[in-house]
Amino acid sequence: AKTWILKQHFEGFPEDSDFELRQEELPEPKDGEVLVEAVFLSVDPYMRVILSKNPAFPVGCHVVGRCGWRTHTVSDGTGLTRVLTDWPQDIPLSLALGGLGMPGLTALYGLEEVLTIKSGETVLVNAAAGAVGTVVGQIAKLKGCKVVGSVGSDAKVSYLKELGFDHVFNYKTVSSLEEALKQASPDGYDCYFENVGGDFFSAALPQMKVFGRIAVCGGISLYNDKEPQTGPYPHLSMIFKQLKMEGFLVGRWEHKNEESLKRMLTWVKEGKLKCREHVTTGFENMPAAFMGMLQGENTGKALIKI
Ligand code: NDP
Repeated sequence: AKTWILKQHFEGFPEDSDFELRQEELPEPKDGEVLVEAVFLSVDPYMRVILSKNPAFPVGCHVVGRCGWRTHTVSDGTGLTRVLTDWPQDIPLSLALGGLGMPGLTALYGLEEVLTIKSGETVLVNAAAGAVGTVVGQIAKLKGCKVVGSVGSDAKVSYLKELGFDHVFNYKTVSSLEEALKQASPDGYDCYFENVGGDFFSAALPQMKVFGRIAVCGGISLYNDKEPQTGPYPHLSMIFKQLKMEGFLVGRWEHKNEESLKRMLTWVKEGKLKCREHVTTGFENMPAAFMGMLQGENTGKALIKI
């Protein structure tokens, strides 16, 4: 197997020298084990079973699992999930890592379970052209909401407008986040799907409506900070707007995944949910693709095709 090793924890933004490519000899699978081969990799890899001594995973089936950045893995099946068995031929299997996988479910649960969005409400989402954000906006539109997105390039602005977002702005070029948020929705926001943190979060909180709800999904602007940020955040907005804020991890609703994926698959088939992918070819390019994703090179789900 080829495997990418993290040589040392990142000091600030990751660099090429933090990663090392190694070759590894794998043992023969024992009874109950399978040998899986990566077909597509994301930060959460998706593979096919090429040798099996475990009846739950017949040879040739496709699975999703967290096996690391590696081409091959011997596994006893723990943490491997089979891709829906009735996956339609005409839907790319790679969507099992994107809109029809963990990122898509994150969007769905954030909207339905945490924010409990209702038709007619205004939803704000940042990192809106990413794997999670594109699905957030489209599902919110399907449910009759007005959607405002924030992204880091004009090409992403155009793409999200094509997808039906009501208002999209480029956070890198607006003169003031506060003004951009006000202009996009002068009446404020009922719901805020938060992926970014930092300055954006501070600017968005005061723009919430009274009794607004915030789902804290991610904080991508903070992940490479050498020192954790401690604020200050607009504490008083929380009080005077009587806001409700909840952090969440997608795994909380794992028991609903199969039913949820079937629902989302129907939207994909009906053309109501579009899932763009940003595919880089070659296992060797994994660190570059990872760093590119952190810098916003991707529109939709960032993937490596082996
Ligand atoms: P994306 O596909 O959205 O990729 C990340 C995007 O973030 C980049 O394309 C870039 O787009 C944007 N970005 C990077 N740096 C900044 C910054 N400083 N400020 C604003 N935007 C930035 O990733 P995912 O869709 O996979 O993940 C989105 C978020 O959801 C992440 O924070 C992730 O950690 C979180 N997440 C949480 C889960 C949970 O269970 N809670 C599960 C899955 C994901 P741009 O060009 O717009 O800057």
